[in-house]
Amino acid sequence: MKDKALQRLTHLHREHKGLINIMPLQTGGLLTEAAKEALIEFGDGYSVCDFCLGRLSDIAKPPAKEFVHDLLPQFLGSDVATVVHGAREAIFTVIHSLAQPGDTIVVDSNRHYTTVVAAERVGLNIVEVPHSGYPEFKVDVDRYEDLIQQYDPRLLLLTYPDGSYGNLPDAQRTGEIAQAHGVPYILNGAYAVGRMPVKMDEIGADFIVGSGHKSMASAGPCGVLGMKKKWEERVLRTSKSYKNKEIELLGCTVRGVPLATLMASFPDVIERVCHWGEQVAKAQWFSAEMEKLGFKQLGEKPHLHDLLYFETLQLYEISQHVRERGYFFYKELKNRGIWGPQPGLTKAFKVSTFAADRQQLTSVLDSCKAILRKYS
Ligand SMILES: *Cc1c(COP(=O)(O)O)cnc(C)c1O
Repeated sequence: MKDKALQRLTHLHREHKGLINIMPLQTGGLLTEAAKEALIEFGDGYSVCDFCLGRLSDIAKPPAKEFVHDLLPQFLGSDVATVVHGAREAIFTVIHSLAQPGDTIVVDSNRHYTTVVAAERVGLNIVEVPHSGYPEFKVDVDRYEDLIQQYDPRLLLLTYPDGSYGNLPDAQRTGEIAQAHGVPYILNGAYAVGRMPVKMDEIGADFIVGSGHKSMASAGPCGVLGMKKKWEERVLRTSKSYKNKEIELLGCTVRGVPLATLMASFPDVIERVCHWGEQVAKAQWFSAEMEKLGFKQLGEKPHLHDLLYFETLQLYEISQHVRERGYFFYKELKNRGIWGPQPGLTKAFKVSTFAADRQQLTSVLDSCKAILRKYS
């Protein structure tokens, strides 16, 4: 019985294990060796709660207290930090604390869908700063200013970078605009925090959001939220009945493996952020090589992030004439030991160069070349 359940899971889940991974959702969440150990050690339910005195962020053993109150704020450049279930929960927590149903928030048009859903859950109106459209889809953050004047929003949110094109809009300029107009500013760094250097205080944001399973080498689901001191009382307000329990967090958030793996990987995450320059160089090189094959990188150029979006019309053309249709490309890559583009997509897709080294990426390029040749 046990073996059967495990077999089924293994079959369903680990099909892509061991392949070169360029799947954008996964490259920043791959576990470190330390996190793999923590995963086993803390696998049982409520495993971090043995010595809890009532508040998750005050647990001394394992050292959640040091992590949440010292290490994390330092890393985020925030006064205060907390741990939540993901970037979306962090965003929801903030807007639910600061806005009322019927209020308006201004966000960039490259925002993640979860920003929209979180705002809907609070009952807000959403106004979007437009992007420049094909092919770069850039957001001109100066447009926040007009929209602030027009809509008197409760909050601003900037996605940095966005999860489609990997564009990095001018977050600092957005901070100046937010401060000049006294509008609280959320920086959504789901694809930034844990990959690249980013500090809330240097950017001038009120809140910074990160995703543990997206970009901090964590099993998750978990996320991090940093804020200015002045928002602590509001966002982390506690229950009237239970003085230790933050209302927005429903008392305790990541009470087990997510926190354990997040903490276990943290030293490596701090270290890897220092090598961001190499990551950007690798992404730019890969993008240039893909373009030599006839694919077109959309989004900002030169590109400043490992998340890359390619338009691949030759692959689409091939998909029109083969039995597997759009799935041919996924199958061809998988047969060559590569997992990345969303199965079924051939017109355009995203990849991330974060976890693969240049040798592995060369293998990806050679494979694309071979696939194009095979069907030409
Ligand atoms: C992935 C992603 C999210 C959602 O992250 P979760 O931690 O899974 O909630 C939010 N915003 C952006 C830009 C993302 O790429």
